Amino acid sequence: MSENSSTDQLIQDLQASNKRYASENQGKLQKFVDGQKPKIAVLTCSDSRVIPEFIFGKSIGDLFIVRVAGNVAMDTSILSSLGYAVDHLNVDILIILGHTNCGAVCAAEASTDESNELLNEIRQSFPLHNNHFLSNIMRQLDMLPKRSKVISKAINEEKLHLVGAIYHLEDGVVKFL
Ligand SMILES: [Zn+2]
Repeated sequence: MSENSSTDQLIQDLQASNKRYASENQGKLQKFVDGQKPKIAVLTCSDSRVIPEFIFGKSIGDLFIVRVAGNVAMDTSILSSLGYAVDHLNVDILIILGHTNCGAVCAAEASTDESNELLNEIRQSFPLHNNHFLSNIMRQLDMLPKRSKVISKAINEEKLHLVGAIYHLEDGVVKFL
């Protein structure tokens, strides 16, 4: 009973917020109905504290974003999504945006469970840097072109800049690597 009513409340809140959003953004929404042409793709963490549009002051149509815990690009759906941004949307920049206090990185540090592929992937970055929030980004910068032909081709043809960045939860500052 209480669980249902709290779920109802959450959905009512979402509906009310969405109604406001729709009425406040009609002009912008109409501009992008027929397509998108973002210049920037972002691979970042699913963490609720990391919101690229807020962090970079962007809006509808500005950023093509792929989010996954630990911002790792290792499976085909993520690689294909980023490949689409590069090959079809022709983004100029692909940012791998990690963040401080990343729960996935902390879990990889704390766990010895080798059956978890996500944590294994993050752990493989650890020799690269003492700061594992950074090492995780560094490994993905290295691996992404090796795992995606579309991305390596675009980089080689100088159509795409692949850059790493870390978002500091403490003060909101992004530092590019
Ligand atoms: Zn994270």
